[in-house]
Amino acid sequence: MAVQCTFSIIKPDATIGNNTGAINAIFEKAGLRIVAQKRIQMSQAQAETFYAVHSERPFFGELVEFMISAPVVVQVLEGENAVLAHREVMGATNPAEAADGTVRKEFAKSIGENSVHGSDSEENAALEIAQFFSGNEIVG
Ligand code: ADP
Ligand code: MG
Repeated sequence: MAVQCTFSIIKPDATIGNNTGAINAIFEKAGLRIVAQKRIQMSQAQAETFYAVHSERPFFGELVEFMISAPVVVQVLEGENAVLAHREVMGATNPAEAADGTVRKEFAKSIGENSVHGSDSEENAALEIAQFFSGNEIVG
């Protein structure tokens, strides 16, 4: 399996809860390397663009409001099969269904406020990384 990059967001519930480091430790233990990272306040336009794929879903407005309600930490993670490895360690979207040891099982409050985002494909990872990072900010 090839080394890949994926895009990650530590969401507002987790930054407010001061769990950035604890979540990063879980990622690193899973073999993911943080090759870029910054804490930002997302604008409404950035959040709407980022989640445009969900714009017709009933929870879209609430999702955008949540994502701009406090700072987030955007990251590029590198590792073997990183997209899938990251999705596995994040756990299911709904924390009630997340497996033991996953980030969402340990930290998420609800299906909406679920602590982390991870890309769902290598193609989307590249698009999402490009939305938040320039090439010289990623140092592997
Ligand atoms: P994932 O983040 O696991 O890839 P999705 O791409 O399906 O999940 O959804 C994107 C985000 O939208 C979720 O992480 C969550 O924050 C929010 N979301 C998804 N489903 C719901 C829902 N039924 N109610 C409220 N928020 C939701
Ligand atoms: Mg998704």
